[in-house]
Amino acid sequence: MKKSFLFIMLVVFSIAFGDITVEYKSSLAPEVIKTIEIDSTEYFNVFELNKTFKANISDDLLDQRLNVNIYGKQLIFLMDSSLLQYGSNYHNMTHNIIQQDGKYFLPVVFLTDLLPQIFSNIMSWEKNKLVARAPLDNSIKRIVLDPGHGGKDPGAVGYSKKNFEKDIVLELALKLKKKLEEQLDVIVLLSRDKDEFVSLQQRTKFANENNADLFISLHCNAHRKSKIDGIEVYYLSTAKTDEARAVEAMENQVVYEYEGGREAVKKYDDLAFILADMAQSEHLEESYKLGANLQTSLVNATNAYDRGVKQANFYVLRGAFMPAVLIEFGFLSNKDEEKKLIKSSYQDKLIDSAFIGIRDFKMKYDQMQ
Ligand SMILES: [Zn+2]
Repeated sequence: MKKSFLFIMLVVFSIAFGDITVEYKSSLAPEVIKTIEIDSTEYFNVFELNKTFKANISDDLLDQRLNVNIYGKQLIFLMDSSLLQYGSNYHNMTHNIIQQDGKYFLPVVFLTDLLPQIFSNIMSWEKNKLVARAPLDNSIKRIVLDPGHGGKDPGAVGYSKKNFEKDIVLELALKLKKKLEEQLDVIVLLSRDKDEFVSLQQRTKFANENNADLFISLHCNAHRKSKIDGIEVYYLSTAKTDEARAVEAMENQVVYEYEGGREAVKKYDDLAFILADMAQSEHLEESYKLGANLQTSLVNATNAYDRGVKQANFYVLRGAFMPAVLIEFGFLSNKDEEKKLIKSSYQDKLIDSAFIGIRDFKMKYDQMQ
């Protein structure tokens, strides 16, 4: 045991690698990881792994750990130690991690030996080069905006009886698309860009087929009591309050009225629910965060009544294979809110603040990837 350990030490000492080239099994240009010599051993700055593999790196000073998430796997380095923990395994890098000027340096043996060993299916050490699969890029690049209702389905009708939800949310969607595409590096697709009927199932199908990274459904609310007003954002869940259930019933009504009545409802309930459970449960936390960002930002900008982030079981959010939320921008059944919702300056406030909510979510989300 002791002999083989000494042998490894000798090998590590005797080979000088210099800077390390990382080649990808794709058209991506190669990268170079710069190495430096510390106490006659070659090291590299751990943040080079962010550049080469989009690794997410964080230090935990309390537990004296350095966490590196790479290709979706978590590697844990113990400070002032040569040990690397991966799952239930420990690997010995033969030299300790070094902390210097707020930077962390790992011994090069991590790149030449351990990384190809841990990721043997996607990485190999070949002729002084690290050859790897292109890094995972899970950043948000495509957003589907889903203006509710349309065509034969007007959605909520204004207090004045003159304005329809389907028209207001289409205007909002077109404006929001423009702003997002101008200011963020994203492609925005609309589930409808004119006054036409689109079934609820088609809406999430559209998002899934276009590999959307976010799905945002845009709506205006209504209540039998005209004094009710305010903004609320929903994400999918089966748990719900009575009020959330009422909004859910209203937004789901389209299936009953326009998509084939009881049979269509049953079809959604049986099939979509199983799918939705699988599709959305892994995105629940992200959907909640996106919803919370939107709610805070919208309420701050408009001073509208804050009805909070809520959970409800919307057909339109079921089956979306990505974080998904539904925004209720205000109550058309409320006289004052109806007036605001059709005003261009108020719509701009809604769009600017929805943009901020999405942008901030994207920034945090992309960093985590
Ligand atoms: Zn609606």
